[in-house]
Amino acid sequence: MKIQENISLKDYNTFGIAVKAKFFAEVISKENIIEALTFAKNAKKPVLILGGGSNVLFTSDLDALVLKINIRGIEQISQDKDKVILAAGAGEMWHDFVLYSLENNLTGIENLSLIPGTVGAAPMQNIGAYGVEIKAVFHSLEAIEISSGLSHTFLPRDVNFGYRESVFKKGLKGKYIIYKVNFNLSTSHVPNIGYGDIQKILAKMNQAKPTAKNISDAVISIRQSKLPDPKRVGNAGSFFKNPVVPVEVYNKLKIAYPTLPGYSNGPSHIKIPAAYLIESAGWKGKKLGKVGVHDKQPLVLVNYGGGNGNEILELSREIQLDVQKKFGISLEREVNLINDKSLIYP
Ligand SMILES: Cc1cc2nc3c(=O)[nH]c(=O)nc-3n(C[C@H](O)[C@H](O)[C@H](O)COP(=O)(O)OP(=O)(O)OC[C@H]3O[C@@H](n4cnc5c(N)ncnc54)[C@H](O)[C@@H]3O)c2cc1C
Repeated sequence: MKIQENISLKDYNTFGIAVKAKFFAEVISKENIIEALTFAKNAKKPVLILGGGSNVLFTSDLDALVLKINIRGIEQISQDKDKVILAAGAGEMWHDFVLYSLENNLTGIENLSLIPGTVGAAPMQNIGAYGVEIKAVFHSLEAIEISSGLSHTFLPRDVNFGYRESVFKKGLKGKYIIYKVNFNLSTSHVPNIGYGDIQKILAKMNQAKPTAKNISDAVISIRQSKLPDPKRVGNAGSFFKNPVVPVEVYNKLKIAYPTLPGYSNGPSHIKIPAAYLIESAGWKGKKLGKVGVHDKQPLVLVNYGGGNGNEILELSREIQLDVQKKFGISLEREVNLINDKSLIYP
């Protein structure tokens, strides 16, 4: 394993923010991780774990060791009736893992096609799209504690999944390096096509009894038509979470804003699309210098080139203030803010 010095992270985050890392290493095994932690401990530097960099916003140079997780490999652990457990290295690209499952006639994650990033980061925020979250197929994961170097197995009850949340984004934030994730997939198929435009696209594709591969193709086509490609314009997908409010709050707002959309979220809460709130507050398509709000998808903040993390953060704060003023709702960031202060020492 090679430890490099003063490396630009511009190509390692989908916002394309050009901050520098004091030290940088790509790890391809659990042993590499232990070696890297020993290096950081001796150098008295904190550690940042990086997957595909598609859910981070860098706001300063990092006087730290950045570990890019490149641990690969997918293997079948067991099969029992129609259930198969697959283990995947944390550095596998998530979409490649989805394609692997489809090639092997395994179902359960087809709705999560084309989400950028790595397998290891997927449990962090319980990635979700088109009515499915990885919570539904999560079996367990293996992770190394940064402070002790010890390995731990996390079962679903330990991970505490929520909407774009897990224990790794809350109490254990930055404290563990996930190196392997195990998934429960299925050899039989129960289509989940009730969400968004999936049905419409499948009808266009003439698929009355869609296979998992058909659903994956439909999701890919919707995502490609709606979301900006980070290779063309810097972004990290949805910048904010969709707020969840008590039914009474929603009902009051609905009187003032009759077009306000809302989706049931348990018996007493409603999820409101943040995109609607941002657009209504007048931010859709707005630019502030080199950064701005996407003109088709207001939930996505973009770096048009040369913008820095603080400019994006400032833009996000102005949006939060306006939405708060207009609707009394505080928008919570989905993207992980990364600076020196947010990192853990081994
Ligand atoms: C165009 C676009 C569309 C998107 N659409 C969706 C979507 O539909 N649904 C959705 O849920 N998300 C979506 N995202 C967000 C993003 O793809 C996911 O959050 C993804 O899981 C991030 O993976 P990553 O490897 O890039 O993580 P990174 O951005 O590298 O890291 C994210 C966080 O996880 C930590 N981390 C990363 N790897 C590990 C590891 N192995 N061990 C411990 N900590 C780790 C990092 O320190 C950081 O705090 C989208 C992003 C983009 C750019």
